[in-house]
Amino acid sequence: VTNWQGKHVTVAGLGVSGVPAAKVLHARGAHVTVVNDGADERARAQAAELQALGVTVRLGDGASLPEGTELIVTAPGWKPDKPLFTAAAEAGVPIWGDVELAWRLRGPDAAPWLAVTGTNGKTTTVQMLASILRAAGLRTAAVGNIGVSLLDAVLGDEEYDVLAVELSSYQLHWAPSLRAHSAAVLNLAPDHLDWHGSMEAYARDKGRVYEGNRVACVYNVADKATEDLVREADVEEGCRAIGFTLGTPAPSQLGVVEGLLVDRAFVEDRHANAQELAEVSDVQPPAPHNIANALAAAALARAYGVPATAVRDGLGAFRPDAHRIAHVADVDGVAYVDDSKATNTHAAEASLAAYEPVVWIAGGLAKGAAFDELVVRSAKRLRGAVLIGADRALIREALARHAPEVPVVDVGRTDTGAMLQAVQEARRLAEPGDTVLLAPACASMDMFTNYNQRGDAFAEAVRELGA
Ligand code: ADP
Repeated sequence: VTNWQGKHVTVAGLGVSGVPAAKVLHARGAHVTVVNDGADERARAQAAELQALGVTVRLGDGASLPEGTELIVTAPGWKPDKPLFTAAAEAGVPIWGDVELAWRLRGPDAAPWLAVTGTNGKTTTVQMLASILRAAGLRTAAVGNIGVSLLDAVLGDEEYDVLAVELSSYQLHWAPSLRAHSAAVLNLAPDHLDWHGSMEAYARDKGRVYEGNRVACVYNVADKATEDLVREADVEEGCRAIGFTLGTPAPSQLGVVEGLLVDRAFVEDRHANAQELAEVSDVQPPAPHNIANALAAAALARAYGVPATAVRDGLGAFRPDAHRIAHVADVDGVAYVDDSKATNTHAAEASLAAYEPVVWIAGGLAKGAAFDELVVRSAKRLRGAVLIGADRALIREALARHAPEVPVVDVGRTDTGAMLQAVQEARRLAEPGDTVLLAPACASMDMFTNYNQRGDAFAEAVRELGA
């Protein structure tokens, strides 16, 4: 679409993506109708803002397809089985998400996209990638699912050479024509299956990120499902499959050799068979899963042509966001680490793998997850476990089944004092040299507003111990 004049567009959902989408399309001359399920205070305020511009807004009515709709632009989180979308499919109306809209509206000389998806590590990896690109002197930003609207990045005044784009499985589901320069799927573990309907559908949506890639499809050698997605993708001629591994890299892979990150895919000196990139200790924190994130970021940057020195400088300058394996304090020889962002079992398993012996603080809202595999794979590292939150019984039972030798303290309360008690219990279990790790493997909303607040409560409790 180049001429939006008079086109009837329905925007599904207000909020962070819907409001800017409605504004842009309205400004380009489209007849915009916004439909929104809820009608709470925030929705009413956003509706008033749009109505003042002349946009039609239907609050509390997200189900029916407005008459004459030629295109739907949906918020990424709207489930594909909604009646609105069934009606649209029957009427042959295309459906775009916020990413598709940004992709279509970008200018002819727009910056190429280096895209990152996966179950865990997306935000960290795009931030590392942006840091590397910046170290190479490129104008860039980490955008997308990370909380910075792609529409703003694409249509704003700031000029970019290249964008580091985080994409969720929802966004990819609704982005049929997106074609990245290069893309990475970091890993695939069950998550959001209620939305996608099945693991196959979830993987298929993640795999969309590879479609039409021009230079490189980056996959995780240790996660065969990501390699399968590359094989199934329809890419441009000459596009290469590039693996990353924590082991010794084969040709066309990036990996680790004797404490160094090395590249055997994009070698600068054609007589050499490997290029040194950085030291493992340049990566913060140097936990195995985070080295994997760094390798994926390096692979995308190298696919874009960035020199090895920029990888080293960019990784060295990178500092993780709060609540992602953040070292809070040492008290009596015990390290206290906040990984409140570990909101699913796959993430918690990755951070537990970085510590031994470890006292594990876990629990919250399980979102339908099972904890057996996590417990089986982590049991030998555990000095003990302290459980909090609404679904703590599920973890307690998994521990009893698979690791009856591990001492478990069940903090039988879910009020705000529970975290302080949990940290005190953890201190009693820990011995000098141990780590106490908050890696809940659960969402936080049973006890906290979000994972940030949960991590802050942990850090506060640790400070009280030290005081
Ligand atoms: P996302 O944006 O995908 O949610 P983040 O970078 O915010 O990912 O990391 C979320 C959590 O996932 C981290 O706190 C850590 O526990 C875990 N994690 C990070 N990278 C990986 C990885 N490569 N594999 C498994 N778990 C990871």
